[in-house]
This record gives sequence, structure tokens and C-alpha cells, in this order.
Amino acid sequence: MNAEVLTIGTELLLGQILDTNALYLGKKLAGVGVNLYFKTTAGDNIERVKSVLETACSRADLIIITGGLGPTVDDVTREAVAQFTGRQLVLDGKSMAKLEGFFRGLGAQMTENNKRQAYLPQGAVIIENNNGTAPGFILEYKSKIIAAMPGVPSEMYPMMENVVIPYIIEKTGGARQVIISKSLKVLGLGESKIDDMIQDLFKESKNPTIGVYAHVNEVEVRLTAKAGSEAEALKLIGALKKQVYGRLGSHIYGEDGEPLEQKIHDIMIEKKLTVATAESCTSGMVAYRLTSVRGSSGYYVGGINSYSNEVKTSILGVPADILKAGSYGAVSPECAEAMAKAAGRFFKTDCSISVTGIAGPDGGTPEKPVGLVYIGINVSGVIKVFKYIFPGSGENARENIRMRSTQTALYHFYREICPQSAKETMDMA
Ligand code: ATP
Ligand code: MG
Repeated sequence: MNAEVLTIGTELLLGQILDTNALYLGKKLAGVGVNLYFKTTAGDNIERVKSVLETACSRADLIIITGGLGPTVDDVTREAVAQFTGRQLVLDGKSMAKLEGFFRGLGAQMTENNKRQAYLPQGAVIIENNNGTAPGFILEYKSKIIAAMPGVPSEMYPMMENVVIPYIIEKTGGARQVIISKSLKVLGLGESKIDDMIQDLFKESKNPTIGVYAHVNEVEVRLTAKAGSEAEALKLIGALKKQVYGRLGSHIYGEDGEPLEQKIHDIMIEKKLTVATAESCTSGMVAYRLTSVRGSSGYYVGGINSYSNEVKTSILGVPADILKAGSYGAVSPECAEAMAKAAGRFFKTDCSISVTGIAGPDGGTPEKPVGLVYIGINVSGVIKVFKYIFPGSGENARENIRMRSTQTALYHFYREICPQSAKETMDMA
């Protein structure tokens, strides 16, 4: 069974609200093995709703609509479905009685327009709304199933779960399929490099499918399988996952929701190491990430937010020579190294992490552009410095540079404390 989701509402088109219904429905349909190939949004306009309905019916078996079932004139879904399918809108006595009861309960007079909600396309299965006024409905039309529900998520979710999903399962003859995904989180390799490394797997594998998605901080490789049961889908994913691990090695730092700081936690505890931070352009973001893990006090000792040169020298202990006019300056490998060294000394830790860079939008020069960042990693006295130039323009550039610097610092730290074998696989890839 192939589905299309239609979300109706001008506010969705104007960017005033986020289409979370489409997100929710996508997940729910995947959970019952229904392929969702299209999601379409139309405004509160009867002709346009009819037009998207027509397109949807030409390419899907199941059309799920949310929104536009309310009492006001701009709620056009009932009318559009009725016109499109050539059905009359007829009064549903039970729905009307429920509406009257609802308003009586509120001690309010029901206005005339509310009655519109009790008029539903002839022959439809009515979906009761226990959390609001507008009932939903399911209509079968020329071997297609059209389900319409209100736009309000708290009204729509229970209708979907209690009525529409069981209806779909019954229609698919109980031959229920599930779609399951697993994401592998990759660091230190770009999207195109990853694509290059696993392209052939992509092409060979139809089930599971592989998707590569770039995020600000990392790249995600998602494996999605469809099977008769969750266990079967996981088995399919497992086989392909092994191959992907073989290619990308320890560049895969985690799966699904597991954050990098959690991986660091596990190694720090196991190796009984301690760490401190000295941050300039990230101003504590590395410290924040490290300490967002429960139990981080077992290895994180402290950090200095050494944003100004004054703090870098007087408190942290970076030699003033590095920072003085005409010398290396605050954004330099020398400074990153000195900051890492100083943090380890100050907090008496085995390891330390430093970050210094130009987050912009101001302060860049041709030699030192916005986005230039140095990361210092000290593990038991061995200090390595990494240089990056992150994209320095565009919307949210400053925030993105800071986030990437943070993630990259954590990544390099993770690599340096990783067991030797893992490091070797990372270097190979
Ligand atoms: P009601 O009977 O409550 O009026 P309705 O079917 O008429 O329901 P709409 O008027 O389209 O629904 O939307 C009501 C509210 O529901 C919107 O203002 C919005 O807050 C929320 N909503 C609608 N569509 C979506 C959507 N696709 N995703 C998230 N929220 C939505
Ligand atoms: Mg409405």
C-alpha cells in the first residue's frame, strides 16, 4: 500500500507553523509498513485542495489528510472531499448530538457554523473526536482510501492510532510489514567521501536502503529495512551494517541517539583518565557537552572560559609572548597548544582540550579568515593541534562555527583516547 499525506492549512504555507503532523504521520505509516512517497501541503482553498486530492489519488492508494475540518469558512476539507468524490455532505446525527453535548458541557451556546462539522460525506466511516469538536472520517473511493482528520495534533493523534491505523492493518489483510531504520553517526569524513566509500553498497541494496544525510555536526548513514517483523528487519539491517562498518571503520562513532560525549564518557571511566578544558571561541561549549553526561564528574575536572587575551595569560597561564602584538596571536597553533598545556597544568589533569578561533562575523583577515579554528588535544602530555577553516558565511555562520568547533574538538579528543585498534581503522579509512 502506498500513501500520500496531505496537510491543509495556509498557515503551513506561510511558515507560521511547522508541519509536525506530516512528521508524525510519516513515522506512523512506516511503523505499519506503508510506503509514503509524497507529502503535499495546500492552503485553505477548496479548488487547490481538490487539485491535490486528484494528484494524490492518481499515485497513492491511501490518502491521509489533516486540517481544514473545523467550523469556519476557511475549513474546506469536508467540502473538497465531497465535491471531488461526488458525494453529498449529509448530517450525521451522532456527531451532531456529540457537538451539542460538547457545548452544553461548556455551558455555551453552539453557534450555527459549528453544525457544519456534523455534515460529512455520504458513506463515510465517522471517526469520533474525543478531544475536540470536528469529527474525522474515512471514505473509500474507487479503490482508494481517503482519511481526513483535524489539524490539531492532540485531536489527530488518537484518531490515527485508534481508528485509521487499525483500518489500514485490516485493509492490508493483516499482512503487516514494518519499516525500521538505524542511523550510524559518522565523523571526520565528508558526505561525498562517504558516498564514494559505500556507493556500491547503495546500488546493490534495495532492502535495506541506504541514505547519507549531512548535518551541521556530523554525517548520518541511515539504513532502512522493510520486513514482516521488527526482528526480521533488524536482521536485514544487521547484515548491511556490518559491511558499512567494514568500510567506514571507527569513523562511525555511534548509533542512533548515542552522543559523542557518551562515547567519551565510557572510555574515560574505563581508562581512569581526567580532562580539563580551555576555550576561547566556543566559550564553554565543549565543557557543556562533556558535562551533559551523567557521571561526568568522574573525569571532567574543570574549564577556563578564556575568551579575552587577559584571561588567557593571567588566569590560564598562556605565555604573554605568544599573544603580544606582532607575535603568533590568540588564533594560532601555538596558542592552542599553550592553552591545552596550561589547562592540564592548572587543573592537574591527564588530558585537556583547547579551542581558539574566529567565529565571526567580524574579526577575520585575509591570513586569518572567519571560521579559522585551532583545536589542541593533550592526552598524557602528548599534544596535537588541528587546524580547520569552517564555512564563515551564511545564515547562522557564527553559531555553526562554534558548534562545529565543539563537535570537532570532541571528535579529536575521542580519537586520541580511543583504543589503538580503533585509531588504526580510522586512519585507514
Ligand atoms: P479544528 O476543528 O480544531 O479547527 P481543523 O481541522 O480545522 O481543526 P486547522 O484549522 O487546519 O484544523 O488547524 C488547527 C490548528 O491545528 C492549527 O492552527 C495548528 O495549530 C494545528 N495544525 C494544523 N495543521 C497542522 C500540521 N500539519 N502540523 C502541526 N500542527 C497543525
Ligand atoms: Mg480550523
